[in-house]
Order: sequence, then structure tokens, then C-alpha cells
Amino acid sequence: MIRNVENIIVGGGIAGTWMAYQFVKASKSFVLIDAEGHSKSSFVAAGIFNPIIPAKQKISYKADEIYPFLSKKYHDLEGFIHEKVLHKDRISYIIDSLKELNDWAAQSENHIFKDFVIMRNERIADHVISDFGVLDIQETGWIDIPLLITSFRKKLIEMNAYLNEDFSPNLLHFDEKGFDYKNLRATNIIFCQGTAALQNPFTANIGLKPAKGEVITIKSNETIQGSIPQNGVFLVPIGNDLYRVGSNCSWSNLDFNPTSEAKNEIINKLTKWYKAPFDIVDQIAGVRPASLDRRPIVGQLNFHSNAFVLNGFGSKGVALAPFYSKMLYSNIYDETPIDNDVDVSRFK
Ligand SMILES: Cc1cc2nc3c(=O)[nH]c(=O)nc-3n(C[C@H](O)[C@H](O)[C@H](O)COP(=O)(O)OP(=O)(O)OC[C@H]3O[C@@H](n4cnc5c(N)ncnc54)[C@H](O)[C@@H]3O)c2cc1C
Repeated sequence: MIRNVENIIVGGGIAGTWMAYQFVKASKSFVLIDAEGHSKSSFVAAGIFNPIIPAKQKISYKADEIYPFLSKKYHDLEGFIHEKVLHKDRISYIIDSLKELNDWAAQSENHIFKDFVIMRNERIADHVISDFGVLDIQETGWIDIPLLITSFRKKLIEMNAYLNEDFSPNLLHFDEKGFDYKNLRATNIIFCQGTAALQNPFTANIGLKPAKGEVITIKSNETIQGSIPQNGVFLVPIGNDLYRVGSNCSWSNLDFNPTSEAKNEIINKLTKWYKAPFDIVDQIAGVRPASLDRRPIVGQLNFHSNAFVLNGFGSKGVALAPFYSKMLYSNIYDETPIDNDVDVSRFK
């Protein structure tokens, strides 16, 4: 029997999850099709959000519009899934030279950074070397993305809105008014497939340039609380003496296999300032859906006026997915424009 829905979402990483949540909030019908293994980014990510790129003394793209509202958005989503996934830990960037200290002393008064950074001349902990002090960054923290996504899926299963299966582009048919996929009939389709977009002929040319990354988990008895030290790599306390450390970036061998090269790179960077003993207990790899110009990829695809894409979140899916899923939702239902600098049509 044919099932009519307004929207089909393909892919249930952080992008597809936020797209689906926009539909939940607006009471629009949808089905989300997702199966593990096609692309792998959200389940690998440390989930950090940070409006500053401290080593480059730069502010993140659209920081003023995105970060002050981010915690509230995740807090709302927590209410829907009934799980705590938002951890508002402060990122403490370790200043590692006198020059950097002087540069930040000047920059921290600059109106661009003023609301986001506070300089502190203290150690985070005895075993974290920070002789030049730290830069505490505001509006930061981390999201437990695997818990968020698995809890969200459970809610969708209750709503009969989740299909745990592979999506095959060759089974998608369309006419002027919408799309047929197996027994589904939908007005709109939204592709949120991460790097697997490259294997889908409808989205293969949207301008992706994927980047592999790896994260390790260490166990250490020396505690760090309420703070995420960062310099070269971050150290995220996730409880039970466990810490996630990462990440690296590579544009070759774009598979999901952990490598000893990445492990050594991450450990070398960590041990420059982390001086407590630790054991490595896990290492995982994924591929970020980065884009050619490092901007998200959002909007209407050229093969059909009701086909859309939400992708290209690179290393910032946590911060960008709520903002751009909302922008895409408004584009679909209210015909508000997509910002030119993220519109998928820029790569035509
Ligand atoms: C090592 C590493 C560390 C990172 N750290 C951070 C961080 O600290 N903070 C941050 O914000 N971001 C981080 N990121 C980036 C973040 O992971 C991405 O921006 C984000 O997860 C992208 O989400 P997505 O939903 O677009 O793609 P994905 O997470 O790849 O999700 C796509 C989903 O679609 C499914 N899918 C695809 N094709 C099909 C198909 N044909 N049929 C069925 N299902 C399909 C996939 O299996 C997957 O479930 C990190 C990434 C890596 C690799």
C-alpha cells in the first residue's frame, strides 16, 4: 500500500537528525531512511563546538549568529529525546609562546573576540603545562552525538518515521509533483548523506572534498573537570577517567580504518602539554563531509525543484546542523532564500 508523506530524508547523521527535528517541531510528516556504514562522521566526532579558531586567531564563520543560540537549541532537542547530550564545558586553549600571549592580549580586547574569550593566567591542572596561561573560550562545550542520534532514532521508530535500510538511488522515481521510493510517495526529498553523497548520482557533484580524521580515547587517573584543554589536539573529559583526544586531518586513504600514523601524531601533540600517565583504550576513524570552499552545501538540487541537500558540514556539524537545517526548512516551506555563500548552486 502506498504511504504518503511530505518529506523523505536520506541519511540520519547529525544533518539528517536536525532536518528531521525541524519537521517534528513543525508537525510536518516525514520518513528518515538511514543505515550505518555508508559514511561515518557523526559517530566518530568528538562533538565539540567552539566559536574561535584560537591557533589562527580567527573567529568561526557566522559565530555571532550561531553560537549564542546553540545551547538552547540542543537543550530543546534534549527535551524531545529525554536524554542529556549537551555538556557546556569550557574550552581552555593553552597559549604556548610569549608572542602568542602578547597577540592574544591585544586581540582579546578587539570587539570581534571580546564576547568570546577571557585570558587566564592559571594552570588548568598540575599535569597540564600552560606556562603562558590559557584562553578560556565562551559558548563552548561538546555534544554526545552517538547518544543524541540513537535516542532520536528511538523516538522516530515510535512515530513510525524511521526506516533502517539502504537507500538505492536507482529505485527513486519522480514526476512533476514529487517522488516515489518503494511504497513511499513524497512531495520533497532531502539528501543528508555525508560523504556517501558522492556515491549517489543525484548529489555526486555538489562540491564535496572529504577529509579523514581520527580520535583516540585514553584512560587517565589524573582528573580534569569542567574544562576541555586544547592545543594541537583537544582533551575532552567524558567521564569514568576517560578522555577523547583528537583529531588529525588527512585527504588521502579516505577509509574508516584507524592508522598508527594518526595515533602517533595525536599522542605527540597531546604529550607536549599533558604530563600524566595514560593508557590508550580506543581509536576510531571517520571521514568529514568537507566542501571545496569549506562552507556548508545547502538548498535545491538542479534535477528537481523539490529535491534538496543538507551537507558539507566539514568539522563543524554540531554547530552548523541546527542553523542550516532551519534555513533549509524555511526555504522548503516559506520559500525564504538560502544564503548565497552556502547555496549548492554555487558549484553548478
Ligand atoms: C575524527 C573526527 C572528529 C570530528 N570532531 C568534530 C567535533 O568535535 N565537532 C563537530 O562539530 N564536528 C566534528 N566532526 C565533523 C562531524 O562529524 C561532521 O560535520 C558531521 O558528523 C557530518 O554529519 P552528516 O550528517 O552530514 O554526515 P554523516 O555523519 O556521515 O551521516 C550520514 C548518514 O547517512 C547514512 N547514509 C548515507 N548514504 C546512505 C544510503 N545510501 N542509505 C542509507 N543510509 C545512508 C550514513 O550511513 C550516515 O548514517 C568530526 C569528524 C571526524 C571524522
